[in-house]
Amino acid sequence: DGTPLWLFGDQLGRHFHATPENRGRDVLLIESEAALARRPFHRQKLHLVLSAMRHLAGELGDRVTLVRARTYREGLARFGRPVVVHEPGSHAAERLLAELIEEGLVEAELPTPGFIRSKRDFAAWADGRGRLVMEDFYRDQRRRYAVLMEPDGDPVGGMWNLDRANREPPPRRAALGVPRAYRPREDDVDRGVRDDLDRLLRARRIGPVGVDGPRLFAATHDEAGRALRRFLTTRLASFGPHQDAMLTGDWAMSHALLSASLNLGLLDPLAVVRAAEARLRGGEAPLNSVEGFVRQILGWREWIWHLYWYLGPSYLDRNALDARTPLPDWWRRLDPSQVSARCLRTALAGVRDRAYAHHIQRLMVLGNFALQRGFAPGALTEWFATAFVDGHPWVMPANVIGMSQYADGGVAATKPYAAGGAYINTMSDYCRDCRYDPRVRLGPDACPFTAGYWAWLDRNATRLAGNRRMSRPLSGLRRLTDREAVVEQERHRERY
Ligand code: FAD
Ligand code: SF4
Repeated sequence: DGTPLWLFGDQLGRHFHATPENRGRDVLLIESEAALARRPFHRQKLHLVLSAMRHLAGELGDRVTLVRARTYREGLARFGRPVVVHEPGSHAAERLLAELIEEGLVEAELPTPGFIRSKRDFAAWADGRGRLVMEDFYRDQRRRYAVLMEPDGDPVGGMWNLDRANREPPPRRAALGVPRAYRPREDDVDRGVRDDLDRLLRARRIGPVGVDGPRLFAATHDEAGRALRRFLTTRLASFGPHQDAMLTGDWAMSHALLSASLNLGLLDPLAVVRAAEARLRGGEAPLNSVEGFVRQILGWREWIWHLYWYLGPSYLDRNALDARTPLPDWWRRLDPSQVSARCLRTALAGVRDRAYAHHIQRLMVLGNFALQRGFAPGALTEWFATAFVDGHPWVMPANVIGMSQYADGGVAATKPYAAGGAYINTMSDYCRDCRYDPRVRLGPDACPFTAGYWAWLDRNATRLAGNRRMSRPLSGLRRLTDREAVVEQERHRERY
């Protein structure tokens, strides 16, 4: 079939365009100005997507047509030939495709190779289950794709999950001390992108979100391959133990920094999983690290994708804790200068400077703060999707609405990820030099996370009363002698 293939900006790797079915097709890429300007994207995120698309156009040469148009529809009309396209990554794009098929601009929608399991297979697994549990899904994935499995059907090492070995606090050093992650070298394509974005910014067609900086993440299949190999060789072995730890002077720790490449479709997720598994077989990395990493991709990433489709668009409107606080201006502007809380300040500065924060900063600092302060989950979802280099519509709802804000009432997580300063103090070096004290909940030194935790619990005590995993914290709340004073203090707190 010689029908041309239209690739969205998150479908840019060889597992999309170089498969036996697609190799003979011409390729269409559309740079849609409406898609760029529709939402307040971080500068470095816009840069990465444009750079990746233009690099692919350069790589594929005569085979590709890159159309710059106001909208996708206009781009397709200008291209002038019907196309096929792989499943997109959002409900909005899915609706658009249905219209384009109706209008004859798109001939057919093909399954996506961007994820390991198909939607139909996921539905077959999920239908009829009482509760959807990620750990059950993950084990099914391990068996189905024979990853980290013994021939007799047992998991390698006799355990499915080695999380217990992966919750070590950080070492008492400024940095983890692992080799630096891969850094791409910018080229003429990047310079062109930077000029174009400067022009759009001057014309106020895009917002000034985040700072510009050298491109940190891969824009091509080859760069992403180098980033992956460097991670596997130098950082995978230490990925496990400090997965949940945070250090002020080490923004990357042993994290893979591969989410942007995976989400742009530059890396094939199953190939990444198999490459990590091979390092275990080669004795280069221990099981707790390899299993931890495999779970992130074969488990979590797939889980989040499938929940997005399986739970449908209405999931985005969930607000089980009735949280309605608008996002503060300093938060939206990524302006840490207003913030004294060292943990929050560090995470926010990281987002401003790199459009990135690692998982525990997202969950236990940014997400935890938003949960405690009752940020509206829809607005927060939008913020994460636009401010982060790896943010895409499909990845937000289960991570933000579900995991981090508990706005789905317990579908994605069995209990809210709310924690006070004691947790942050154990898992980081932030509190040492902070203006607040994680042990204090009342008065000028009261840690906004510690006091904020109790105030949040007080506000939601009735809503959470039915959750067995919350019974201990709730009885702690009842024993709190200064409960009213803490709640009152946090209600009026203006500075963090
Ligand atoms: P590592 O920690 O090294 O993990 C390896 C890989 O596993 C990642 O590259 C990623 O592809 C995958 N992964 C792990 N957990 C998840 C998950 N929960 N969802 C999806 N993929 C996962 N991830 C995004 O890709 N985009 C987002 O916009 C995003 N927003 C998040 C918002 C919140 C509030 C939370 C709690 C998590 C979010 N995540 C998101 C998941 C996770 O934090 C990032 O994937 C991870 O921090 C990316 O950095 P890394 O590549 O160094 O990951
Ligand atoms: Fe964050 Fe509280 Fe620790 Fe300061 S004392 S770094 S605000 S947890």
